Formats: sequence, C-alpha cells, structure tokens
Amino acid sequence: MLIIFSILLAALITACNATTPIATYIAQVEQSALNGGLYPHAKEPTLTFDIDFIKRLKAKDTTAENAATAIARAITLVNKELPPEHKIRTVKFDQEVSIIVKLVQHGDTFSDDCAGERFGCADSILDFDSGHTKSSTIYIADTYAKEQTDFLWTMALHELLHALGIQGHVEHESFPKSVMNHRFAVRHTGDTLPPIDAEILKRMYR
Ligand SMILES: [Zn+2]
Repeated sequence: MLIIFSILLAALITACNATTPIATYIAQVEQSALNGGLYPHAKEPTLTFDIDFIKRLKAKDTTAENAATAIARAITLVNKELPPEHKIRTVKFDQEVSIIVKLVQHGDTFSDDCAGERFGCADSILDFDSGHTKSSTIYIADTYAKEQTDFLWTMALHELLHALGIQGHVEHESFPKSVMNHRFAVRHTGDTLPPIDAEILKRMYR
C-alpha cells in the first residue's frame, strides 16, 4: 500500500513540475532574441501605412494592394483574440500611431536592427521598465508581395505578432502550428490564429 502511495505521490510531483506549453513558448521566445520576451502595448495599438506605401496604394500598385490585404487579414485574425480595449485600430497617418507598416524594395536595407532579414521584419521600441512595446515599424519586402500567397499572409501575421510584443521565436519542433517560428515553416491560411499563438496573445492582453 505504501509503495502504491509512493508511486502515486511521485507521479503527482512529476505532473506538477511538468512545463506547460505556454511556459515553454515563453521560455523559447525569451531565449531566442537579445531582448526576447513578451512586451504588450500599454494602450490600444493603432496602425497605419507610411506615406510611400499609401502613395502606391493610391496609384493602384498591385504589390502594395497585396501587402495591404495581407496586413488587413492579419489584423482581422488578431483582433478576434484581443479584448475590446486592445484591438488594433487602423488610423490615418497624421494621428497618433504605434505601429507603422512600410513596404520596401527588396535589397533596400530595413532598419539597422532588422539587418540580415530578407522577407519582413518588425523593429520595436521597448520600454524595459514597464515591460511594454512603445511603438513598432513593420517592414515588408515588396518582392514577396507581388502575388497573394500563403507565404505573404503568414509573413504579415508573423510580423504583426512581433509588433504586438512577441519578441522572439519558438521552435518549429515544439510548436509545429505556431506562426512564430523564424523559418515560416507553417503557411497559415485559416481564418483564426493558431491556438497556441492565440493563447499567448490572450495572456498578454487580458
Ligand atoms: Zn520573426
């Protein structure tokens, strides 16, 4: 009887110590980047496109329209998971903006902090004291927006989640359905976020 009790107790202790998927996700995000971690915006995130992007949209440039559609789709998916006071609101360029989206020519340098990236990048200004994202610039290389592809959709979603404060990546082997692995191994075409990414967002913005 005592042996059975001991085995049960050992199993219970093991279960309590087991790392949850959320804890593993956060640990991988923290370890994968210099300032890795979760930095939610303190206020309602507001998003707009930069002037050159808007000019290209006005000129009915197909590449710009593809990129804008991908970003709009990503916002729709993300806003399904965010509470009302933290849903992303798109605003005009002259209003207070916390996320700017730029479409740059492939081969143009992104910002210094994005050096080495080829497809897209989100360069964020973080407030380490409060643990929040102050603002973020999303760069999309227009080479990858010439057509509406699963890759473009996934990239837009990936960069938007960075801009919302997920600083870092997870390992594909641990989270095969997450869009936050750095190899874009998952092409996300569903009309909701992958459950693990949705859970993380909800945890950040509750
Ligand atoms: Zn990334």
